Amino acid sequence: MLETLHRIVKEVNAAPDLEGALSLIVTLVKQAIRCDVCSVYLTDQDARAHVLAATDGLRQEAVGKVALPLGRGLVGLVAERAEPLNVSDAPSHRRYLRVTETGEVAYRGFLGVPIIQNRKVLGVLVVRQEAQREFLDDEVTFLFTLAAQLAGAIVYAQASGELDSLTTAQRSARYLEGRAGSSGVSIGNGVVAFRMADLSAIPDRAVADTQHEVESFRAAVGAVEDDLRRLKERLSGQIPAEDNALFDALILMLGGDTLVTETVALIEEGQWAPGALRESIEKHAKVFDGMEDVYLRERASDIRDLGRRILMHLQSDSPRVGVYPQHTILVGEEVSAVQLAEVPADRLVGVVSATGSSSSHVAILARAMGVPAVMGVTNLPVSRMEDRELIIDGYRGRVYIAPAPSVRAEYERLAEEERELTAEAESLRGLPAESTDGIAFPLYLNTGLINETGHLGNDDFAGIGLYRTELPFMVRDRFPAESVQVMNYRRALEAFTPRPVILRTLDIGGDKPLPYFPIDEQNPFLGWRGVRISLAHPEIFLTQVRAMLRAAVDLDNLQIMLPMISGVTEVDELTMLIKRAHDELLEEGYAVSMPKIGVMIEVPSAVYLVEELARRVDFVSVGTNDLTQYLLAVDRNNSRVADLYDDLHPAVLRALEQVVRGARVFNRPVGVCGEMAGNPMATVLLMGLGVDSLSMSAGSLMKVKWVVRSFSVSRARQLLHAALRMEDAQQVRRFMEGALEDMGLGGLFRPGR
Ligand code: PEP
Ligand code: MG
Repeated sequence: MLETLHRIVKEVNAAPDLEGALSLIVTLVKQAIRCDVCSVYLTDQDARAHVLAATDGLRQEAVGKVALPLGRGLVGLVAERAEPLNVSDAPSHRRYLRVTETGEVAYRGFLGVPIIQNRKVLGVLVVRQEAQREFLDDEVTFLFTLAAQLAGAIVYAQASGELDSLTTAQRSARYLEGRAGSSGVSIGNGVVAFRMADLSAIPDRAVADTQHEVESFRAAVGAVEDDLRRLKERLSGQIPAEDNALFDALILMLGGDTLVTETVALIEEGQWAPGALRESIEKHAKVFDGMEDVYLRERASDIRDLGRRILMHLQSDSPRVGVYPQHTILVGEEVSAVQLAEVPADRLVGVVSATGSSSSHVAILARAMGVPAVMGVTNLPVSRMEDRELIIDGYRGRVYIAPAPSVRAEYERLAEEERELTAEAESLRGLPAESTDGIAFPLYLNTGLINETGHLGNDDFAGIGLYRTELPFMVRDRFPAESVQVMNYRRALEAFTPRPVILRTLDIGGDKPLPYFPIDEQNPFLGWRGVRISLAHPEIFLTQVRAMLRAAVDLDNLQIMLPMISGVTEVDELTMLIKRAHDELLEEGYAVSMPKIGVMIEVPSAVYLVEELARRVDFVSVGTNDLTQYLLAVDRNNSRVADLYDDLHPAVLRALEQVVRGARVFNRPVGVCGEMAGNPMATVLLMGLGVDSLSMSAGSLMKVKWVVRSFSVSRARQLLHAALRMEDAQQVRRFMEGALEDMGLGGLFRPGR
């Protein structure tokens, strides 16, 4: 049976379209199960019916015509319950409905399984037998597996209008679903960012002239470096070139030791350059593939992209000199940030990627550029997207293919409203982030991954509220030396002086080990993370702190923040180490000064100990990403439990209330630097809580400022108190949506104004 299943799946996957796939499936299933009839019904919600879409055994003329009303008959029962139904004598079942148009004799044996995608029933796969027959468990699971295979193909066919002749649904209801990567809506034409060279297809091949091979490899690497610099330059109109860490990281990887030397070593063993390149790229990418942290896993695609680029030059192909339409929506299996940079900025209106998430570099870049992006569209038929008209909705993670005129008109209106909304938000530039009753809520930026200052000018943000220092550690093959770190931190401190820059000490470990510092644990999120590693390896911590202090000489805008604090001794020991680094540097003749020190509140124990922690430091900052994960016991990177992860959960709000109250005892300022700080829906609640500052990505800043400037603190407090009494996150979310709509700010969390 398993073999038959594999064969059917393979043949069905090779079918050119859904119609082909369906007719193959009914024929093959009928043969495999030796039944009299096999049919597929597709659910048409608008027509309120299950429409016969393919059959082997019933009259062919009935296809597309027979429509079983929803909620009736055995097929209706399968769809209703979303469960298989196995009945040996169908006519005696209370829900049996005799359909004559199909040429049905009174079939007795009935087995129906639902075709489900994302909890939604798309149709029913049915087999029938003239005689009484109870189908075997094996046969049920066989159909079940096939139904799951069909689901993806049906979703695509619905979205592209392929099913129009069969079902009556308006195309408005049809779209492919992915994840919101960057908010906004746009209409444009698909341009497929195809893989220019397929590294995995490169075979092994021996060469004699290794010298020549090494030379051409090095030349290809040099050419890619030049390309990257050119692209970085091009992006610099969008994103300030200084500290553009993504491109720096890729260039660094090329210039760094391992990738190049390992490839050269393989060539010297007799392998030709493309083969050697394939091996070393795969080895590097695999290190990231195995990581649980989504952000780090995404780095594997950056490395493979780099490999393809080198290969392209080795094969002396030139990069696609793009013909990009006026409104380009870049579509790909795995769109890379570099491919995105290749599209002229004035032509790029959107990005759609079959893989990736909102932490992919390409999504981060899209946000920084203000271009909508939809990520992780699993059923994306990339090869059929070139030149198709597309609409993307980056709020809800939707992609409409060849939209019907009514959908297009609706999205044109939304896009226009969006432009007005953006213009209105832009008009807030230079205005202070303060409530209508004059209380200031300074807004800071999160940075460190790439330069995420976007279009913002110096007056728009108060400083850097969270600088994640992990990146330079991740892209190397060993811990970066003190001097290298000094350069990095100095760039950031100088760029924003005199505004404060909060550098967070290394937050690796557990789920995000460095490639050269492997950690293997059963429960990585509860394991060796953040300051726990710093305490076990004071030499790593001391080197980093020394670099931070040295970088700040004469600038005086450095603040140091400690991640993953769970108790007071950690703070005592780490502040002692910071003092020690400070004293030693003074002795060595550096004119360093003691920075402000803060702790992140991201572990539940720190919420309960906030007074004791606040007494020991200068400020506290709530990392709501981790705090939500630990309070709700929901892995922040696990899509299976993503529905449970919600930072508007009343438990999170109540924890925040406790943090603010505790920190107030010692008059310590409280900031919020998790994603919650950049969510306009949470802004009013955070104002009501009385937090002192919010730190977020550049793309959110104007929206959050708009909310701050629309509410008074007394109104925010009223809303907060109501929210604190609610029992679940959904209730809070609906309540806050209402509050923003009332102020005319609905456009901040959904398409349109
Ligand atoms: C957080 O946990 O909210 C946070 C800001 O840190 P990170 O997302 O880097 O873990
Ligand atoms: Mg964190």
